[in-house]
Amino acid sequence: MKTLIKNAITLERLMGGLGDNQMKVNLVVEGTKITQISTSQIHDDFHQVIDADGLFLSPGLVDPQVHFREPGMEYKEDIESGSRAAVKGGFCTVISMPNTSPVADHPHVIQNMLARAKEVALCHVYPTGSLSINLAGKKLTDFKALKAAGAIAITDDGKGVQCDSLIEQALMQAKQVGLAILDHSEDERLSNQGAIHNGEIAKQFSVAGIDSDSESKHVERGCALSLKTGGRYHVLHVSTEKSIAAIRTAKAQGAPVTVEVSPHHLLLCDQDIKIKSDQTLDANWKMNPPLRSKQDMLACQQALLDGTIDAIATDHAPHTPAEKALDIEIAPFGIIGLETAFPLMYTYFVKSGKLALGQCIDLMSKQAGALFNLDCGRIKVGATADLVLFDLDNCFEVNEAFFASKSKNSPFIGYQLYGLTRMTMTAGNIVYQQG
Ligand SMILES: [Zn+2]
Repeated sequence: MKTLIKNAITLERLMGGLGDNQMKVNLVVEGTKITQISTSQIHDDFHQVIDADGLFLSPGLVDPQVHFREPGMEYKEDIESGSRAAVKGGFCTVISMPNTSPVADHPHVIQNMLARAKEVALCHVYPTGSLSINLAGKKLTDFKALKAAGAIAITDDGKGVQCDSLIEQALMQAKQVGLAILDHSEDERLSNQGAIHNGEIAKQFSVAGIDSDSESKHVERGCALSLKTGGRYHVLHVSTEKSIAAIRTAKAQGAPVTVEVSPHHLLLCDQDIKIKSDQTLDANWKMNPPLRSKQDMLACQQALLDGTIDAIATDHAPHTPAEKALDIEIAPFGIIGLETAFPLMYTYFVKSGKLALGQCIDLMSKQAGALFNLDCGRIKVGATADLVLFDLDNCFEVNEAFFASKSKNSPFIGYQLYGLTRMTMTAGNIVYQQG
């Protein structure tokens, strides 16, 4: 198969150059690879020609944190539907979390996930292995065996690691096998079995609150242990000002610490949680870590703009409408995010002039891939043809019908955004085309 993509707009920087200048390019994809790039017209015989006139060509995006629910909870999402949501949002690569049923704590679970992804996924799916057996926080898994089976990192995401010595051992073992520890930072003694942030809204609605310190205490611990052991420590979905301060300090000290933030923690705070007609809080605004105070949200924005943040992650966490219609104190944590992440980042940070487009795309591709030693995020001859065409000019409205995910649990329904995906190509195959 030989495909021509013609008349696309991209940035010098995304082609491996230095500048943020825009340029018009034509490129040829043969098999799974990009084989030719030119600023002039390319004349040849092609099986298909895509006229990208007026569209922006981006390298395929990379999401460091998704929950595809397979095996075990396929009624919420499965690898096929999750990957459909990914490519609709411009993601060609996702890192999936191990809190499935069974938990990905054994090589055969990882192998089955990879086999299933090979069969049905529209994007590259890299599973992680759990840090502890059955996410119980008691006994470490066999990192070496998990890596050999294909696990790309180690994490107990969904649960904080409560035992200090266990996380220290994990960092040391992960270093030996050359993997990063991804930390869902949550000290359960401080999270009070809460449903939302421990702030004014929690008080006003008499809902148990999750203290900010529940995150920052674990981030401080992880940073200190990373410095001590040299183990690679990645903070998942950061949400508080204090956590960011600890990460800045650790980075300045030379610790191998990295951090991601999610669009919802950049754009929403606890005051934005929707109040339903019965005067209770809507669980579609419930996730873990929770939407924090406005001050925390602004600190996340500052960290994004000053370069402290390494990557954007959606923490795509599908749940059914019935589960999310429950009282906020008992509804499950999590929102979906794959289809809205780029449009939100583009509309609120790039279009508004706060962040350069190239920087935004780097945070969502090159830098996100680098966390896992994946070489992504550049459009170059010889690279795997993971490519996206975005429409940056026309506004669209997010509604329930917009989502390719099996679930619809998003607080961004009703938003008017820019940055709709018009085409996604994974390894040379067109896996999504709008309309
Ligand atoms: Zn988490």
